[in-house]
Amino acid sequence: MSAPDPNRLPPVARPSHYDLELVPDLDAATFTGVEAVTVELLDDLDDLVLHALDLAVTEAWLERDDQRVDATVTYDTAAETATLHLAQTAAAGTWTLHAAFTGELNDKLVGFYRSTFVDDAGATRTLACTQFESTHARRAFPCWDEPAAKATFAVRLVVPDDLLAVSNGAEIASEPLADGRRRVTFATTMVMSTYLVAFVVGPLEASEPIDVDGVPLRVIAPVGKADLTPFALEAGAFSLRFLADWYAIPYPGDKLDLVAIPDFSFGAMENLGCVTFRETALLVDRDRATQAELQRIADVVAHEIAHMWFGDLVTMNWWNGIWLNEAFATFMEMLTTDAFRPEWQRWVDFGLARSAAFDTDSLSTTRPIEYEVRSAADAEGMFDVLTYEKGASVVRMLQQYLGEDRFQAGIRHYLTTHAHGNTETTDLWDAIEAATGEPVRQTMDSWIFRPGHPLISVTAAEDRRTITVRQSPFAFHADPAAGAAAPDPRPRSVPVVLRTGTGDGTTVHRILLEEAEATVALDAPFDWLVGNHEGNGFYRVERSDDGLAEVAARAATQLSPLERYGLVEDQWGLLLADRVEVGRLLALLRHLATEDDLSVWQRMVGVLGGVERVAGDDQREALAAWTRALVAPALRALGPAPTPEESERTTALRATLTEALARIGRDDEQLALARERFAALADDPAAVDADMADAVVRIVAGRADEATWEELRRRASAARTPQDRLRHQGALADTDDVELVGRFCALVLTDEVRTQDGLFLLRRAFGNRVATATVWRFIVEHWDELTARFPSASVPRLLEGIRTIGDPVLAAEVAAFLDQHPVPQGATVVSQHRERMWVTVALAARVPGQLAAALA
Ligand SMILES: [Zn+2]
Repeated sequence: MSAPDPNRLPPVARPSHYDLELVPDLDAATFTGVEAVTVELLDDLDDLVLHALDLAVTEAWLERDDQRVDATVTYDTAAETATLHLAQTAAAGTWTLHAAFTGELNDKLVGFYRSTFVDDAGATRTLACTQFESTHARRAFPCWDEPAAKATFAVRLVVPDDLLAVSNGAEIASEPLADGRRRVTFATTMVMSTYLVAFVVGPLEASEPIDVDGVPLRVIAPVGKADLTPFALEAGAFSLRFLADWYAIPYPGDKLDLVAIPDFSFGAMENLGCVTFRETALLVDRDRATQAELQRIADVVAHEIAHMWFGDLVTMNWWNGIWLNEAFATFMEMLTTDAFRPEWQRWVDFGLARSAAFDTDSLSTTRPIEYEVRSAADAEGMFDVLTYEKGASVVRMLQQYLGEDRFQAGIRHYLTTHAHGNTETTDLWDAIEAATGEPVRQTMDSWIFRPGHPLISVTAAEDRRTITVRQSPFAFHADPAAGAAAPDPRPRSVPVVLRTGTGDGTTVHRILLEEAEATVALDAPFDWLVGNHEGNGFYRVERSDDGLAEVAARAATQLSPLERYGLVEDQWGLLLADRVEVGRLLALLRHLATEDDLSVWQRMVGVLGGVERVAGDDQREALAAWTRALVAPALRALGPAPTPEESERTTALRATLTEALARIGRDDEQLALARERFAALADDPAAVDADMADAVVRIVAGRADEATWEELRRRASAARTPQDRLRHQGALADTDDVELVGRFCALVLTDEVRTQDGLFLLRRAFGNRVATATVWRFIVEHWDELTARFPSASVPRLLEGIRTIGDPVLAAEVAAFLDQHPVPQGATVVSQHRERMWVTVALAARVPGQLAAALA
């Protein structure tokens, strides 16, 4: 016997089926519901406890055969439960629990909530929809709201006749009622967790279903937006077919709807058969969208459909498993999008996601990927860069180390073995071990349960026939005010893959480095060496000056894009760790001047922007000139405008270089050209390609006067697509006019900005060096209002902005304020933002001195 766990329901009842009828009143923002739940009592009970929050249970009783046991109800708001006090003892066995209840359609973007939008005629329309993960089903109906309490669900919705209603199962009946409403009945689902239940009711229109190997697939959008659905439909059909084939298991639902919701706090949610999305992640005008915007939709659609098997069919036993659910779906999203559009080079672009993971995982406040989760609230902190980006990077490292076929065989074995069940993380490693015979569990444990990642130092012997590989924990150097802890020095199990080159070709060397140091003996001397073959290892590489120069000189001819990307990423990390000076980073960038890959350039431009932020004011012009000398020839080499033969990534690269030249290079000619293009776009949205149009908006916004700023605002309000709205609204944050920054901040608190977007927009303004102090003062003055108005999950995202603060005085103010105003829903994430801020402070203290020599 052990003490009952206060975070879990008493293990005395097992639901197996819910019969649910919900009646939303969109105008009054309320709903009523009735349910009949088949439940097995494992013991004789006087009380029955289940989850319910912000619900009034008006009536409840247990029934079997001709026996009825009435109940009175009390609530425990802190535990988010209702207790049914039974009028007499109910004997162990199977019963039906009947309950009637009422609730509010809230504005918090969780549970059963309301969302509004303005239709083409200018009228405000209302819809009701759900977001239940992690623990919000309890806000819509009384239930056993834990992932292991799987059951089948038969849903009915009573709705006004002119509204569309969808849920997880296919619609199987629609019955008109006398009062102008109708009762829509949906097919019973497979057994699944409560967090995957969904219903959506509103003025929506559905695309004609397309048949994907027997599964009807639709995209559903607010009325008037049907023309923005074809791309998602194409991506959805591809993903559904690709994934069923890859998993070798048929799609587990009976239909699939992808539904765009105007107010949505996450990117999307993998409700079985009824996936909900933020509009920018589903609706798009494919002819006027950037490559990145289209890719985002393909990614998110693939990610959610990947969950239909990994997450929905096989589900984590408890919330500690969220990381695996998300890391794996993120990995599958890359794999699927890479197959959907090979020309997008999805795995190369994944380098950027890996950089984001490295950036947090180099802090002493980083966390292990998996940690003990007692309450569901503990798990809310798991929806972060370490779960998605580091988790997916580690899965990718494993896949590449084992080989793609063996890895796939392991996943198939896992899903088949545990279909319709619940699992622990170790079940996955065991399944892959069974399929491959490799010690997967032991290797993965050192990545999953240990925070951080190693620095791999690679040195060659004089005769160039022996390579010594050493590991040590990697950490950024923070200002002492951060109080950063020293990293754990014990070695870990690192799959290191090296590649050496000679005149005759290249050789790959794989070692599982388990000690602090190992040597690799070669048959013949090598000319050059890559420390992280194809960039798949989740580690950083340190080289001598000569070793780096040797490989950088051959970058264009011998290295893959991800390997070149890795050179830049590693040198940037080493700069932040205070292991190299900025001059070495700039020298590397000069070696890469003829680079032609989009992702590599994006990283080069990203680190240049990082250097520019911490440069001295008197150094900016010299740095701008240096940037122009680097970027202008690369831009010239691409030609002035897209050609019919060029790839979408080349078109995007032209826009990236143009923006770098105009903004970091402060090139007057490019600024003037952007202003011309911005004017032309007002009359003709096709005046330039979509990627260039996107860059033009940011270039113009960065130097906007009041009239231009108001024009951006007007274009945001008039935008027809979610991408266009966000593009213009976001650019308002980029202005270098402090007065306009203040106006931008105030705008975030008005109805002109959706609550789902507000804090993300404010965060963006932090990235604008001129705006940082103004934005911070605004946050301090409006803290209570901001935290009350916006979804609580987005507050830690807002504070991500402090990572770029390099001024020690402002940093101290920020730290003092956050001491007084803790953010309980994101304590770990906020502590990481704080430490990263002190890394920037330390960087800002040493770079100007180094830069003077580097630019001389
Ligand atoms: Zn996901």
